[in-house]
Amino acid sequence: MKKILTAFFLLIVFTTHSQTINDYFQKIRNNQAELTAFISQMPKGGDLHNHYSGAIYAETYFNWAVKNDFWINTETLQVTADAKTGEGWTKFSTLNKDGKLSSYREKLLQLWSMKNYNGADGEQHFFATFGLFSPLSNINYKEGLTELKERAITENVSYIELMFSRVDFSKQNIDSTNEYNEMLENIQAQKDSIKLKYVFDRLYNKIMQLPVEDSINSFTHFLDSLHYNSHIDDNKFTMRYQTYIVRTQNPVTTFKNLVVSFRAAKKDSLIVGVNIVAPEDDPVSMHDYWLHMYMFAYCHQKYPSVKYSMHAGEITEGFVKPEDLTHHISDAVYIAKAQRIGHGIDIAYEKNNYQLLNYMSKNHVAVEINLSSNEYILGVKNDAHPLLLYTRFHVPIVISTDDAAINRSSLTEQYELLALRYKEISYSDIKNFVYNSITYSFPDKQKKEALKKDLDERFKKFEAYILSNQPK
Ligand SMILES: [Zn+2]
Repeated sequence: MKKILTAFFLLIVFTTHSQTINDYFQKIRNNQAELTAFISQMPKGGDLHNHYSGAIYAETYFNWAVKNDFWINTETLQVTADAKTGEGWTKFSTLNKDGKLSSYREKLLQLWSMKNYNGADGEQHFFATFGLFSPLSNINYKEGLTELKERAITENVSYIELMFSRVDFSKQNIDSTNEYNEMLENIQAQKDSIKLKYVFDRLYNKIMQLPVEDSINSFTHFLDSLHYNSHIDDNKFTMRYQTYIVRTQNPVTTFKNLVVSFRAAKKDSLIVGVNIVAPEDDPVSMHDYWLHMYMFAYCHQKYPSVKYSMHAGEITEGFVKPEDLTHHISDAVYIAKAQRIGHGIDIAYEKNNYQLLNYMSKNHVAVEINLSSNEYILGVKNDAHPLLLYTRFHVPIVISTDDAAINRSSLTEQYELLALRYKEISYSDIKNFVYNSITYSFPDKQKKEALKKDLDERFKKFEAYILSNQPK
């Protein structure tokens, strides 16, 4: 009897406790500054959709360019490590001597991010940034990872699943590549999945005759040394990695890269998943979408323990033809069997979308929501965004950043936007989304349990702190 009474008492305390936090949150949620003060301290679990080069702030890239005295073309603003001659080229040290460093700093910050961007084509400006800062995003990895870790700790983020780098097998040649590309395109035109499997088997055998293991070993060695030498993991923070393929390459190259990506993920426990990146409305991405889905399905069959999330449905009306908005998420879910979907913006246009939403809910296919990114790249925000459509059908939601630095944002801001824009979402829902970011992450069971236990502790402390320090 005593035990029952104690349990009952604890239940009442717990319920009152949660209700009080909920009430307090409802009180402050309409004021942005009050909301920021609350959200910035709140534990946020993991950021499961985060691209390394888009997460390093332009200020950091600029500092690296100055420190390494890179070359800059003052007309095109192109930056490079290699010595250059000709019109417009000068060194950062010369800009500094001439007193022009700060004006070029501002120009580069705007070129490398969405800072002050008010043009019409956000998508084009956004995707162009990656090529422009690439001479800098391919150096100083240790400093870069450390910057992400420190920012995460400041934001009360305990885990990042980072799309960091890829095993690039593009240069390894298979004989008759052109014929295979043609064959795959023809099979795609006929949508013949049986014939496709037969060709994939042949290609797979050819790939296995190439130095696959050498490429994977040098990649995992690079990643492991960087991760452990940079002391990224500790009791406050954990980083794991996704490798990825680029969806704008020819079919044979894409298939080769996907096979080595799956093998790398199977081999190295730091690589917890595979992804597919690059603009989804690119002509190659659109044209070869069906092939890409079956490539994932094939690799899933070969390496069933490897997990993968797929950018899918990061398109909307006006970006592609209406009929192209009807199947990307469905194909990623039903054909490719993606465990998580990145963005999922075109869901409202997908064929039989209610059935798809119910399927995702029932089968625990989570969707990674990136509010700022969707606003800047696709122009989709507020109630045009399908967030509530997903929650209505109980599809698991995780909140993530995509490319926080290009968007001049943070995970804190993503939760703020969520609370400001969607009043139906309660504090309990938000907390649930935070827990989803661990539940639907890709590390092994043991690591996830440790992260979840840590999150329990963080929430206990946070809620007690809010309750004892809220204004009287
Ligand atoms: Zn992304």
